[in-house]
Amino acid sequence: MRRALCPGSFDPVTNGHLDIIGRAAALYDEVVVAVFVNQSKSSMFTVDERREMLQDETRHYGNVAIDTFEGLVVDYCRAHEIPVIVKGLRAVSDFDYELQMAQMNRGLAGIDTLFMPTNPEYSFLASSLVKEIAKWGGDVSSLVPPDVFTRLKERTSAG
Ligand code: ADP
Repeated sequence: MRRALCPGSFDPVTNGHLDIIGRAAALYDEVVVAVFVNQSKSSMFTVDERREMLQDETRHYGNVAIDTFEGLVVDYCRAHEIPVIVKGLRAVSDFDYELQMAQMNRGLAGIDTLFMPTNPEYSFLASSLVKEIAKWGGDVSSLVPPDVFTRLKERTSAG
């Protein structure tokens, strides 16, 4: 069985993430989407909320599993016998950092990384930007799934 990992913060999941997850799901038998638990980074949604949103938005694929992890991505890969990480590339600016990480991960653990160019429609899209726009009442309905949009509205109007 060919398995791949899509790691990230997913705070919250965007249409850009889902584009990559969906395309990876078409290439691999199983895709594990792992939500990175980073205690020091302040987030808008809890890990459970992020996991729940991902579960709702990927259920229809049938071969996407959602999990959470703390620590090194390569340790997660090794523990779960996943040989490859799939990453979306938005722009050249992503490349420097991603290349460094991919080479480090291969050096550390022999885990390969495959880069998938984002759909140009989403090349400017990042969770941080979506949160910033939503905080100020901007319309992000075309950038995230409808249920995520509702949650963002609830969270930003409550805060
Ligand atoms: P961000 O906060 O920048 O959205 P995440 O850590 O949640 O970042 O993203 C996890 C991974 O998802 C990224 O490393 C990247 O591979 C992919 N990704 C994020 N946004 C996009 C996008 N708009 N298009 C394609 N891939 C993306």
